[in-house]
Amino acid sequence: MNIKSILQKDNFTRDDIIRLLIADDPVDIELIREKAEQALLYKCGSKVFYRGLVEFSNNCVCDCHYCGIRKSNSAVKRFMLSKEEIISAARWCAEQGYGSVVLQSGERHDAAFVDFVEEVIKEIKSATVSQKLPKGAGVTLSIGEQSPQVYERFFKAGAHRYLLRVESSSPQLFSSIHPPSQSLEKRTGCLSALKRIGFQVGTGVMIGLPGQTAENLADDILFFKKMDVDMIGMGPYIVHRDTPMNVYTDYFNINRDKIYHTSLLMIAVCRLVLKDVNIASTTALQALRDDGREMGLRYGANIIMPQTTPVNVRRDYLLYENKPFLDESSEELRKQLDLRILSLGRETALDDWGDSKHFSTEIKWQNAEIKD
Ligand code: SAM
Repeated sequence: MNIKSILQKDNFTRDDIIRLLIADDPVDIELIREKAEQALLYKCGSKVFYRGLVEFSNNCVCDCHYCGIRKSNSAVKRFMLSKEEIISAARWCAEQGYGSVVLQSGERHDAAFVDFVEEVIKEIKSATVSQKLPKGAGVTLSIGEQSPQVYERFFKAGAHRYLLRVESSSPQLFSSIHPPSQSLEKRTGCLSALKRIGFQVGTGVMIGLPGQTAENLADDILFFKKMDVDMIGMGPYIVHRDTPMNVYTDYFNINRDKIYHTSLLMIAVCRLVLKDVNIASTTALQALRDDGREMGLRYGANIIMPQTTPVNVRRDYLLYENKPFLDESSEELRKQLDLRILSLGRETALDDWGDSKHFSTEIKWQNAEIKD
């Protein structure tokens, strides 16, 4: 079946998804992009939602083989922002009209860390209440695997979205990039717990992992569907020199273009399969191409996470080589982004949490089921 015929279907088989992901004819790729853009506009509208990204600490107890801030990387200067610094960044985001913030850090499970995050969430919520944001800024967390009890505390404190990538839904690939102490099963359990508690849940994978196939990526998309997630945050895998996966530097350089194009196709195919979820156009795309994030929006993404981490610590949160926006102020970055989004004919949503349409649809379904 040719690409045009596949794109006419409402539901795609695994084989259809694989076929879309390996498209390499520019005409076919443009057909996929156009269809994904149409699906985005029809299901979610043209607005782009900003989430101010605050990378508040690079302390991490994990040793993921790919990650620049892994525990064993002794070249990293470790930092933890103060409560005041995080709140001031969140307040700045709310004043700019960014309806939401994302608090991201390395993983820690100790009581002091959990108490700290809980307090920060509460203070951000009260510090950002305004006429425009009567319930304060939306708070998304991205701080790794925690117990259901801890997730519950964060939810009660006011966080309402959580991002936890599975990195790969293939147990073999997952094991090849993590130490034996980490498992796909545990991560999937965390996603289920987050959903049960009431979070809008986001997950995602890295694209271009050594050994990863189009079949793996198709299974990742089917995994997102099975888990009924509300948000997708995925991007290219990019080598970091101080990690055990630096042996793949040549592999990465040779496959750089393919990884970039496959990342865009993953966004488009996720949009076509998952329809009304929020999809982020991630910073890692821009590490590969200067206009990478705009291209992500053109392929069906509707979320951008502008960098709002204080400039003095950004270089210490290097997950991968060539991470962009290390020196520009948050103000400059905002101006650049606004212009780039306008140039695409899209508009930025202001003072709006920008919840996933999928989540509200889910809630409506649940309520309808209860009434029945
Ligand atoms: N500790 C939290 C967690 O693991 O979910 C959040 C921080 S973690 C550094 C955020 C994401 O960075 C990971 O989910 C991973 O996909 C991404 N990441 C880390 N190293 C990367 C690399 N070399 N290339 C691309 N993405 C990377």
